[in-house]
Amino acid sequence: MADNRSVVYMDNNATTKVDPEVLAAMLPYFSELYGNPSSMHHFGGQVGRSLARAREQVAGLIGAESDEIIFTSCGTESDSTAILAALQAFPEKRHIVTTRVEHPAVKNLCEHLDRLTGHKHRVTQLPVDRDGLLDLEHYEAALSDDTAVVSVMWANNETGVIFPVEEMAGIARSRGILFHTDAVQAVGKIPINLADSAIDFLSVSGHKLHAPKGIGALYVRKGTPFAPLVIGGHQEKGRRGGTENVASIIGLGKACELAQARMAEENGRVRQLRDKLEEGLLSQIPSSMRNGHKEQRLPNTTNISFEFVEGEAILLHLDQYGICASSGSACTSGSLEPSHVMRAMGVPFTAAHGSVRLSLSVYNTEAEVDFVIEKLPGIIAKLREMSPFWQTSHKGAVGGASCPCECS
Ligand code: PLP
Repeated sequence: MADNRSVVYMDNNATTKVDPEVLAAMLPYFSELYGNPSSMHHFGGQVGRSLARAREQVAGLIGAESDEIIFTSCGTESDSTAILAALQAFPEKRHIVTTRVEHPAVKNLCEHLDRLTGHKHRVTQLPVDRDGLLDLEHYEAALSDDTAVVSVMWANNETGVIFPVEEMAGIARSRGILFHTDAVQAVGKIPINLADSAIDFLSVSGHKLHAPKGIGALYVRKGTPFAPLVIGGHQEKGRRGGTENVASIIGLGKACELAQARMAEENGRVRQLRDKLEEGLLSQIPSSMRNGHKEQRLPNTTNISFEFVEGEAILLHLDQYGICASSGSACTSGSLEPSHVMRAMGVPFTAAHGSVRLSLSVYNTEAEVDFVIEKLPGIIAKLREMSPFWQTSHKGAVGGASCPCECS
């Protein structure tokens, strides 16, 4: 088993390493700067000013104004806060529109509301096509006078597929419907400018962009009706009670500043590494296929299915080389069912079980990509040797890119 020094970390959609500059920015708030930002004295006041700076840094990354940012404990809390606030704004409306491929933070909340209210809250989950894309005509047809809120993710955590949320928000606004987007995977990876959009709520999670776990933010457009989820003190202008997680907020602010500065690298060098990795694997491994639209995707993510092998087995073998990847999202792995995203995309059963997500960051190198391209074909070949399904369906085709089913 590899130790941490030789880890090849390609699971950045699950979580990211805290950037050393982020950690350095946070440390004083655990020691000398421990004041309460709400205190009247100067000692606490200086912490309050640091929070204000962090709010500006977060707002700056997404083209928002700083008082449109509420700090939360995570992306999940931001999602719950937004959707429940929208429902409270329109108590007479009972309909939520979302997609079949949302993260459980949105999917399970909507399903819970549906059950909790004895199906009074009707939930429409929009389907996606084989590339993981939504049909906008279908979306428009799903909206009704009873729709209170639309919640559609900006980018999918498993495939990286990007949805046209700005266009969708415009359509929702023209119908008087509030629009939330779970942008947990998009923030820091692709440019976002909320100044000119009709998006009302947007969720951020720190640990996806090199800030710590357990810190998030919710953007609420100025003038959007809002009700807090966590009710208590006057923190966050009464929009989220509880003494602020100061050090993590400072870390999130710094991470947003760094992400802004690294946006070109993420969309240039990281994208090139991802493409090299993907092409290297697809060309060398027969019966492999990309899951998700080739272009309309985050620059760091590839999701590939290797037919007739189990994703879990692939992960265990990769782990022996210190390579960290994921099958399905971290939250759904552990179940033997293929992920709900693969099922919604109609990925064939033989491939849905063998899907692996490799998600890169600015810390990955070309040598790491070459290492994965070198090791993974052998792992798949070895697993297929043990697979009775592969043996019966692909006799004689092993070892080259010329698979008879032409699926790679
Ligand atoms: N939404 C998406 C798309 C995610 O990928 C995740 C985490 O994997 C979340 C929400 C939840 O974020 P957090 O872990 O900060 O609660």
